[in-house]
Amino acid sequence: MPATVVVGTQWGDEGKGKVTDLIARDMSMVVRYQGGHNAGHTLVVDGESFALQLVPSGVLYEHVTPVIGNGVVVDPFVLLEEVATLESKGVDCSRLKVSGNAHLILPYHQELDMLTERYLGKNKLGTTKRGIGPTYADKATRVGIRVQDLLDEKIFREKLEAVLGDKNTVLTRVYNRLPTDPAELADRVLTEVVPRLAPYVSDTVGLVHDALDGDREVLFEGAQATFLDLDHGTYPFVTSSNPVAGGACTGAGVGPRHIQRVVGIAKAYITRVGAGPFPTELHDEDGDTLVDRGHEFGTNTGRRRRPGWFDAVMMRQAVRLNSLSEVAITKLDILDTFDSLKVCVAYDVGGERHEHLPYHQSDLHAAKPIYEELPGWRTDLTSARSRSDLPPEAVDYLGFLEEQIRAPVSLVGVGPGRDQFVDFGS
Ligand code: GDP
Repeated sequence: MPATVVVGTQWGDEGKGKVTDLIARDMSMVVRYQGGHNAGHTLVVDGESFALQLVPSGVLYEHVTPVIGNGVVVDPFVLLEEVATLESKGVDCSRLKVSGNAHLILPYHQELDMLTERYLGKNKLGTTKRGIGPTYADKATRVGIRVQDLLDEKIFREKLEAVLGDKNTVLTRVYNRLPTDPAELADRVLTEVVPRLAPYVSDTVGLVHDALDGDREVLFEGAQATFLDLDHGTYPFVTSSNPVAGGACTGAGVGPRHIQRVVGIAKAYITRVGAGPFPTELHDEDGDTLVDRGHEFGTNTGRRRRPGWFDAVMMRQAVRLNSLSEVAITKLDILDTFDSLKVCVAYDVGGERHEHLPYHQSDLHAAKPIYEELPGWRTDLTSARSRSDLPPEAVDYLGFLEEQIRAPVSLVGVGPGRDQFVDFGS
C-alpha cells in the first residue's frame, strides 16, 4: 500500500497537528520521522486540548499504531511525561512504538544548547533550547547514544562515560559549569527511564514494512516545516533535521517508491518564529490582526510569531521540494475580518522579477514582495463545512492560491476544532 506524507510548507506552526489528525483517521500507522519535542502540535477534541510534542498525532485513534521513527531525537524524560499526561486524560498509549535507532536527548545536550545560544549573544539562532541541535550534532559525529543502548546497561554506561569525557571538558573549561557525572546520570536513566520506556522500544523499520506489505495505510508525519529544513531552509535559521518529504525515507526507513501522496500544509497567511529572512513580513496593523486573531504565539515557548501575507513564491518552492500532490490550507477563518488580502506572487530583487525562490540567500534578504490584492469576504467562516458554504471571495482566494502555487487545495481549515474544515477538493 503506498504511503502518505504530511509536511509543513512554510516556517512551521501551520496547524499540522489538526490536518494530520484528520488524515490519520484513515490510517493504520502514523510515523514521526524527524525532529524532537520542539514540534508542539495542538489538537482540540471535544473541546479538550491535547498538546503533543513527541507522540505522533494518530495516538488519539485506537486503530492507529503511533511510531517514533529512527530519524527522531527523543528526550526520554519528556516522552514519558507526555505519555503519562495523555494516559491521565484517558488516551491509551500502549500501542506506541519507539525506534531503537532513534537518538537520545540527554540533560547535557539541553545544557549545551542553552549555553551555546547564550554565548552566541545577538547572533543566536533562536533554538528552542531543548537539546535537539546538539543531539543531531552528536549523531553526525558518531558519539550519539541511541534508544537501543538503554537496553544494554554495560554499553550504555560505557558510551555515556566516553561522551561525557568530551562534553565535560567543554562544560567546565569553556562555559565554567559543573561537569555531569556519568555514573550518576546512568543510574538516573536506568531507574527512572528504562523500565518505563523499554516496552515501547521496537524495530520500527520492520513494523512499517510489515504494515506496507500488509496493504495497511501508513502516514509519515513531518514536524517543523520545509523552510526550516537543514538543507533547503533559510540556513542557519533552520532546524537540525530534514522535515521535507524526502526526510520520511531516511527518518523511517522506506524508499521513495512507497510514497504516493504528499500533503503540504500551509496557513492562509504565513508566520515565522525567531530570526531569518521573511519577504512578506508585516510590521503594521494587518500583522497585529493576524497575530491577535490567529493566536500566533509559540505553543512551547510563548514567543510572538512574526506575521506576513501568503507567499506563493515560497509555496512554489515547497511544491518542488516535497513533490506535493495537494495542499491543505489552514486558518482561513483568521482572514475573516479583512477588507482585502494580499498574496505575494513574485519577488523584486534589485529590479528583477523572480517567480521562484532566489537560490542566493542575500537575494532573499533583499527580496521585495510583488503583491496581488484580492477582496476579503468579511464573513465568519467558522461554521462552513463544505465548499458551497464558502462566500465567493473565499473560493476565489483559494482558487487564486491554487493557480499561483500550481497544486490543488484539498482541505481548508476554518477553526481549531476537529470538525472545522472544508473538503475543498470535492
Ligand atoms: P503545528 O505546529 O503546525 O502542528 O501547529 P499547531 O497545531 O500547534 O498550531 C496550530 C494552532 O492553530 C492550534 O492552536 C490549532 O488548534 C489552531 N488551528 C489549526 N487549524 C486551524 C484553523 O483552521 N483555524 C483556526 N482558527 N485555528 C486553527
